Amino acid sequence: MRWCEKSWATSSHKVIRVVKREALDFFDLTLEELEQILTPRFRARQLYQWVYQRYTDDMSEVTVLPKTLRSELAEQLRFDTLTIVDKAISQDGSEKYLMRLQDGHTIEAVLLKMKPQKHHDDGGIAQEARYTLCLSTQVGCKVGCAFCLTAKGGFVRNLTAGEIVAQVWQIKRDHQLPAHRGINLVYMGMGEPLDNLENLTKAIAILTTEEGLAISAKRQTISTSGISSRIDKLGALNLGVHLAISLHAVDNETRQQLIPMNRAYPIESVIEAVKRFPYDTRKRVMFEYLMIKDLNDSPQAAKRLVTLLEGIKSKVNLIYFNPYPGTPFKRPDRARMEAFRDALHSRGITCTIRESKGLDIEAACGQLREKAAKG
Ligand code: SF4
Repeated sequence: MRWCEKSWATSSHKVIRVVKREALDFFDLTLEELEQILTPRFRARQLYQWVYQRYTDDMSEVTVLPKTLRSELAEQLRFDTLTIVDKAISQDGSEKYLMRLQDGHTIEAVLLKMKPQKHHDDGGIAQEARYTLCLSTQVGCKVGCAFCLTAKGGFVRNLTAGEIVAQVWQIKRDHQLPAHRGINLVYMGMGEPLDNLENLTKAIAILTTEEGLAISAKRQTISTSGISSRIDKLGALNLGVHLAISLHAVDNETRQQLIPMNRAYPIESVIEAVKRFPYDTRKRVMFEYLMIKDLNDSPQAAKRLVTLLEGIKSKVNLIYFNPYPGTPFKRPDRARMEAFRDALHSRGITCTIRESKGLDIEAACGQLREKAAKG
């Protein structure tokens, strides 16, 4: 807490604060932390509901709170954690957001429309649209994957929990998605999530809070490039989230070429960590496999992948490499992709080919940010 604490009270409510140095980032506060600041406790819950479920950040509009309290809160809390500075909309409905943080750095988040809204003949809604939101956890990244634009800019800093939460809030608000509308979150944008585990854990606590955005942990997936020791750490926290591993290769030599960190955490150590992960037996661990023409798309690679995944309840996502200017890697042929998928299927492994959503808006991580940097 950055405030000196001292009681201030009226007959109806009490705010603990007085010497204000800097307004607190609302999105960085768990409900329990807000309850420490704002009493009686139900006032904190009311504020949480108004901000997260009605998308209001103007305290004068929170009419459920007494007027004096509203003006106090307007001084003590800030909601400008990040702002949307650019948005690119793809033909497939994906929307890529460029967001500016308070210190001027920019990050990206992508809203993927997984299923469109469907209507009955009478115009009623037969099926709600389904969304997945791909979030950033760091400015830049330390991992340095060879195929990634984010890696080119190096690592700048971890995002705070508030900066992770605010990405969801801003995009849900931008679409005015009703509070109850289910949305899946995947920590797969800029950064290695397990490299910022403490802030990510806090963000997940805020995002799952019933009075807030109420996004169940079951709807959240942490995607890692495979830091084995941190997979164990995440497992020990038992958050109930899904796990996705960016495998991308089946031998250490190729994987090292793609993910230099593989030197410290070779494939075998990643697979062993996945086997130790306390997974709900009904769920599957997702393995992401970025297909690159003539590098990792051979029938032999498919065979080796089957062997590696033995004993793991897994699902494999084959992703088309999404070329960008200057990259030496090429997009694979559809026939090779399908043959790879069929080889996994024939050995009982669920496997899907992911069409590169948002291809026309350069949805691979870091591309919109790179473009903005070049002006
Ligand atoms: S692909 Fe992900 S983990 Fe690899 S450098 Fe890019 S942001 Fe980091």
